[in-house]
Amino acid sequence: LAGRDFHPEDTLVPVGELTIGGHQVHIIAGPCAVESREQLLETAMAVREAGATMLRGGAYKPRSSPYSFQGLAAKGLEFLAEAREVTGLPVVTEIMDPALVTAVAQVADVLQIGSRNMQNFALLQAVGRTQKPVLLKRGLSATIEEWLLAAEYILTEGNSQVILCERGIRTFETYTRNTLDLSAVPAVKHLSHLPVIVDPSHGTGRKFMVAPMARAALAAGADGLMIEVHPNPQEALSDGPQSLTPEQFARLVQEIRPIIAAS
Ligand code: PEP
Ligand code: MN
Repeated sequence: LAGRDFHPEDTLVPVGELTIGGHQVHIIAGPCAVESREQLLETAMAVREAGATMLRGGAYKPRSSPYSFQGLAAKGLEFLAEAREVTGLPVVTEIMDPALVTAVAQVADVLQIGSRNMQNFALLQAVGRTQKPVLLKRGLSATIEEWLLAAEYILTEGNSQVILCERGIRTFETYTRNTLDLSAVPAVKHLSHLPVIVDPSHGTGRKFMVAPMARAALAAGADGLMIEVHPNPQEALSDGPQSLTPEQFARLVQEIRPIIAAS
């Protein structure tokens, strides 16, 4: 169902009044994790002002260590709902547990499946049974074929609103957190009708590389970007080294305008 041969036209995924895919580029921005009401509201207002069209923020965080901050859970969802009310921005947030689909879907406009869960088939099927758009991140070590097959698990349950997100893969290179595979963008566009966005924050892990790779992603044909922004990256409870300040994010948005206009 994810293949171009099955469905030749590009799939457009409606999110509220927005459409992902097609001619408009969307920028999803916000903190890695929802840390407090103030942190989220401040970030949400700043990214909207700068030109973001959707808000991200994790309430349930898939941390490598069980001793790291795990997210504010239900409280985080509450703050996300408030941030949407205040800014009007649709909310993208990660879901890790099939048992929480109903609770998260009550708040989220887009359900995010993180890299670590790309092959959690029960979770894919659970979000496939909702009618919410799903943002499916590429697995840490997933081939493009495995990624599209993961999308297939969602589509076969009857949910056709899948947005793919390239976020870097594991290679031998250690200078960057992951190796952002921008060749996946034209590959996915060739193989599939689903929209594809790029996350240069997790893709590089280094803030100085986020803007150049964001520009490159759009030049490669991505339908949008996901960017981590924190009011005070040094104090962030997760992913500070790759998070932009609101000012740096505003500059990034200015830098990509000519690329969007030219495409
Ligand atoms: C995230 O976007 O919050 C995240 C955890 O990313 P990934 O699943 O790509 O590591
Ligand atoms: Mn993160």
